[in-house]
Amino acid sequence: MKKLLAMLMAAGLCMAVLAGCGADEASADAGSQASGDRPVLVVGTNAEFPPFEYVGDDGEPDGFDVALIRAVADRMGMDVKMENMEFGSLVSAIGTKLDAAIAGMSITEERLLEVDFSDEYYEAVQFVVVPAGSDIAAPADLEGKTIGVQLGTTGDSIASEINGADVKTYNKALDAVNDLVNGRVDLVIIDKNPAEVFEKQFSGQVEIIDGAQFEFEPEFYAIALPKGSEMIEKVNAALAELKADGTFDALVAEYIQ
Ligand code: GLN
Repeated sequence: MKKLLAMLMAAGLCMAVLAGCGADEASADAGSQASGDRPVLVVGTNAEFPPFEYVGDDGEPDGFDVALIRAVADRMGMDVKMENMEFGSLVSAIGTKLDAAIAGMSITEERLLEVDFSDEYYEAVQFVVVPAGSDIAAPADLEGKTIGVQLGTTGDSIASEINGADVKTYNKALDAVNDLVNGRVDLVIIDKNPAEVFEKQFSGQVEIIDGAQFEFEPEFYAIALPKGSEMIEKVNAALAELKADGTFDALVAEYIQ
């Protein structure tokens, strides 16, 4: 597999060199979707986590993470094929169905047993989403509550450790927030940026509280790769380049802020 990749990349390079004889545009076009001869990185995500990933108007995954992995792969001379799947299935599919996953996925000790992570690219923290006017404010207020979370997430782990909590799991974060609005759960624990998106989407119906108020620890998103993957250095080099040349900040401005 690695050999094949190396051969394909070498072939791509030869073609770029050949193309360079006649047309400078050929290399300028290399980042576009048009080039069908580049190796393909199959990347899993769960497009239920705006603004990092959601289903775009064309029915395909879009969002910050999707744009970021396309930019990373482009620096590696590769195209990307996104696979939209349940969040809880991503880690086990890496190395079999998937070459990598990008899904606002926080680095955790548990996941590190199964996959390797790139350098972190975003700091997050879990937020608490409550119905407007709720008096939930301190860690003790979370005890004994019915808590909605996305299955297999760090929010799920945090909720499961709260005393007396009845944890309801969802495949789609939006379904958890809908159940909050309908009174089926008392609160939802989800990452900061999606919480902010839902606050706008359900304006006047929900409020959000910074998880720091509940002593939730910061988390760091990274790209997940198969254990022992040699691609990790290239991914990290591409990430560093994108940060250094302003591409990363431009994506943050476009999708997150
Ligand atoms: N950051 C959280 C985690 O890694 C949630 C990710 C998500 O729902 N896409 O578990």
